[in-house]
Amino acid sequence: MKTFEELGVAPLILQAIQEMGYESPMPVQEEVIPLLLGEDNDVIALAQTGTGKTAAFGIPILQKIEIGKYHPQALILCPTRELCLQIAADLNDYSKYMEDLKILPVYGGSSIESQIKTLKRGVHVVVATPGRLLDLMNRKTVDLGMIRNVILDEADEMLNMGFSDSINAILAEVPESRNMLLFSATMPQGIAGITRKYMRDPKEIVIGKKNEGNKNIRHIYYMVRAQDKYLALKRIADFYPNIYGIVFCRTRKETQEIADKLIQDGYNADSLHGELSQAQRDYVMQKFRIKNIQLLVATDVAARGLDVDDLTHVINYGLPDEIESYTHRSGRTGRAGKTGISISICHIKEKGKIKEIERIINKKFEKGEMPDGKAICEKQLFSLVDEIEKVKVNEEEIESLMPSIFRKLEWLDKEDIIKRVVSLEFNRMIDYYKDADEIEVIDETSSRREKREKGEKNGKNEGNRNSRKSFNAEDGFTRFFLNFGKVDGLYPNNLIELINKCVPGRVTIGKIDLRDNFSFFEVEESEAKRVADRMNGFEIDGRRISVEPAQSSKGEGGKNRNKFADRSTGDRKKWKSDSKSRFNDRETGGSKSEKPWRRSSSERQARKKRYN
Ligand code: AMP
Repeated sequence: MKTFEELGVAPLILQAIQEMGYESPMPVQEEVIPLLLGEDNDVIALAQTGTGKTAAFGIPILQKIEIGKYHPQALILCPTRELCLQIAADLNDYSKYMEDLKILPVYGGSSIESQIKTLKRGVHVVVATPGRLLDLMNRKTVDLGMIRNVILDEADEMLNMGFSDSINAILAEVPESRNMLLFSATMPQGIAGITRKYMRDPKEIVIGKKNEGNKNIRHIYYMVRAQDKYLALKRIADFYPNIYGIVFCRTRKETQEIADKLIQDGYNADSLHGELSQAQRDYVMQKFRIKNIQLLVATDVAARGLDVDDLTHVINYGLPDEIESYTHRSGRTGRAGKTGISISICHIKEKGKIKEIERIINKKFEKGEMPDGKAICEKQLFSLVDEIEKVKVNEEEIESLMPSIFRKLEWLDKEDIIKRVVSLEFNRMIDYYKDADEIEVIDETSSRREKREKGEKNGKNEGNRNSRKSFNAEDGFTRFFLNFGKVDGLYPNNLIELINKCVPGRVTIGKIDLRDNFSFFEVEESEAKRVADRMNGFEIDGRRISVEPAQSSKGEGGKNRNKFADRSTGDRKKWKSDSKSRFNDRETGGSKSEKPWRRSSSERQARKKRYN
């Protein structure tokens, strides 16, 4: 491997990039730098984002600038405003010690007058989005007659965005004698048209295999029912407590909806799409860059050019309509030598697309197992323990309070204290996940008949999703059927409250299993008769409670369900619950929207902010 000096990089640039921590060239730099330092070289480079391509073209074009001549000598075209600004910022970093070198980013959505003014004063490098540059050319405010290097960055994206005509019009104005470098992550047909027309005998460089996705990225898919997509997203986000990623959605509407739901459910998320103003987009992107946002829900177009290197995950909330976009989406993670995970939450209808993508990226997807509540709690807990280990203790401020705190806790030993601290968060998680429905990952390989049989075995009325729990009670417990369920707004705490109200004295309650229209709960065998006697006949807002030992022989819900599904009232005992209204406050239908333990962490954050 050569050094930057051996590639011919000049001392002033060398000093700047060394200060940026670039010790040795990345493969694309080793190939491209010498070519662009030469004359009349055309290059097609197939390289993903994150491979070091900005420095690969940036360093040589800067080095070739004649600073005494104040007219554009290098032109970089790129698809988005964000990428344009990012490239200009990188070039400014590399040229930190090159006095008087002027780099101008030109892009739509900002004042054209100020761009014209700067052009008049004279610039050396123009970084532009095609539409705005063409506008400036039409106003005769920019002269491309002295350009010596042209770079088309993310050429496939520019074509996808419909810039083909603008690119043609721009290239027609650039002198024939120049270097031209085209970067693209994929090689769609349109690129061949450009290279044929404007490049002479281009050298083709492939970083990684042609059309291959980044090797550092694992591709995982979860095939779920349409109605489980959002729940699956939450599960995945919960399973990776330190996730820092982009959730790609197909439409602006869906992007906003998913972001709103995540925010409402206590996740640290925000949205990025074309319906937001430029100022709003800038604000969100900045928050994401500095990691004030963990999950950015975005459309493909809005996320282009968002240059963040250390994303842990990319989540495809459905696969993109354009298969090519998948490479761009997943290429946002696993950058600069890091590893990343690209997760796709998709529907069985998208199975064909997975195969197509596998062919394009030349890599197999892994089939994901949806993490269950236990696995998630474990992960969250260890992340909390990590936080405890790493938290910075403000010795000075806390010192005066410690003696009273020690006194208060002195009756507890170290182990007890640890257990209690951890339980502050753990209890909430356990409660949350205890009764969460299992999300069925669809086995797309099993035949329809198998699926039908499986469905029948699991009981038609409740469907597969509720069928996971064993019908047998724990040893020493009796399992009861109750004719109230989630549609009545029943939740475990209400049920416990109900039992305690109906049955005087202490009752040991075991597992609780809530279904849509009815529920099961367990109590200690020795208390079973008392519980059944006391609860039966009570009513909640005009509806009689029925409790009887659960019967397992007819599938889930079986006999109990049919027998008690009627909502008639019979002889009533006197107590009327006030809990129904409380039941109704809660979300029904099998998915809890709240994420209780998150609240505490955002409270922690809020506290943090308040005291900062
Ligand atoms: P790019 O593909 O240009 O977006 O670059 C990806 C990341 O790699 C950026 O954070 C660059 O700053 C970084 N980078 C580029 N070249 C080098 C190098 N030679 N050594 C270390 N980091 C680099």
